[in-house]
Amino acid sequence: MTRNDTIAAIATAPGRAGIGVVRVSGSSLQAFSAALTHRNLSPRHAERVQFLDAGSGVIDDGIALLFAAPHSYTGEDVLELQAHGSPVVLRLLLERCLELGARLAEPGEFTRRAYLNEKLDLAQAEAVADLIAATTAAAARSAVRSLSGEFSREISALVDDLIELRMLAEAHIDFPEEGIAFLDSGEAPRRLVQLKARFDTLRARAQQGAILRRGLHVVLAGAPNVGKSSLLNRLAGEELAIVTAIPGTTRDTVRQSLDLDGVPVNVVDTAGLRDTNDEVEAVGIARTWAEIGKADAIALMLDARTGVGEGERDILAKLPQGLPRFLVHNKIDLVAHAPRREDDEDNRASAIYLSAKTGAGVDLLREELKRVAGWEASGEDVFMARERHLAALAQAAAALDRAAEQTAVLELLAEELRLAQVALNTITGEFSADDLLGEIFSRFCIGK
Ligand code: GDP
Repeated sequence: MTRNDTIAAIATAPGRAGIGVVRVSGSSLQAFSAALTHRNLSPRHAERVQFLDAGSGVIDDGIALLFAAPHSYTGEDVLELQAHGSPVVLRLLLERCLELGARLAEPGEFTRRAYLNEKLDLAQAEAVADLIAATTAAAARSAVRSLSGEFSREISALVDDLIELRMLAEAHIDFPEEGIAFLDSGEAPRRLVQLKARFDTLRARAQQGAILRRGLHVVLAGAPNVGKSSLLNRLAGEELAIVTAIPGTTRDTVRQSLDLDGVPVNVVDTAGLRDTNDEVEAVGIARTWAEIGKADAIALMLDARTGVGEGERDILAKLPQGLPRFLVHNKIDLVAHAPRREDDEDNRASAIYLSAKTGAGVDLLREELKRVAGWEASGEDVFMARERHLAALAQAAAALDRAAEQTAVLELLAEELRLAQVALNTITGEFSADDLLGEIFSRFCIGK
């Protein structure tokens, strides 16, 4: 795992571009770069060079940048070759690097080395991948915040406080006669409450970040012809789904990713949910239910002219328990209703009245989508968090809760604090198993 052979990859996206970059990392690249450019490169100086093949033929003319260990992205020697952004040139350049002894880097291997050489902790390394994958500006900003180490620093500060509490508890266990005023004065419970409060704030920020990272998965369901495709087109601002007046045209699912003030929302428009004898349509309906099974929320659309009918009540009754839902009364232009949001007590859902055709009330729907997603933050103090981080935070929270109940039994208190610390440490990777590392870095793109 800690191999430090030389690795190389094309670091820029596939396709033609003005510039393309091949990146190389290894324990010593002076000789490597001399063979490639017939020049001795001085570290951290951009030098105009010719990239040469084995027979000294010119592959391309570009810029070479050598970062000497340990002052580089990976902590090893890193060579960045900026060539013209032609896929053919970049491939030839990469092949030349392989010929000079490099091997093709695995996905995420550069960042993995950066982690192993302690240039980044695990949460920061993950933020690199999240930054590259960010689909909205708010998601990118929160990934940068995590990458800069803000999230890790908050975690470390909590770990430091935990360690201090543990030390006090352990000292008391080992030297009870010293009379360390720890328990008796109510100090332990008070400090635990403070710690828990700070911890909860951090968790809330991470939870918002998780929404930014994966987006909200909303299924737009409803009978044929109520206007699902029209609404999706309206939200997306382009013609995606086919809109016709013949019931049952949306036979397949159409997905669209929306950026709602920085919150990515993936909306799936589905086949109408009606009993049918049409085989193709039946497949679509089965898919709809499969999508509903994976959804974070469901928007059930209906025609404002008829209101909630038996069909809608049937669907509502069949929805998984606890799945957030709201009703969308469409076509209010035909019944002269004003756009509005209401609580529908009977159906235990909120209701939005709008017109996909005129756009009236669509803003209310956007607000409702964000509300259902649990989006409360301004976006400014959110940390990009992954499910893995949330699970670790939840584990630590549970241990802290148990610790709060154990302040009378020091051994148990100390043990719960230890468990909370272990859970928090997995976030930054202080004690991480190799299989976890493999899992995390395999999802990177090659060249990163
Ligand atoms: P879907 O089957 O639920 O996807 O419904 P469509 O989006 O295909 O719409 C069915 C028909 O209703 C089309 O003729 C749309 O133009 C029409 N429609 C959709 N939304 C509205 C609306 O808000 N007002 C009016 N008057 N017609 C609408």
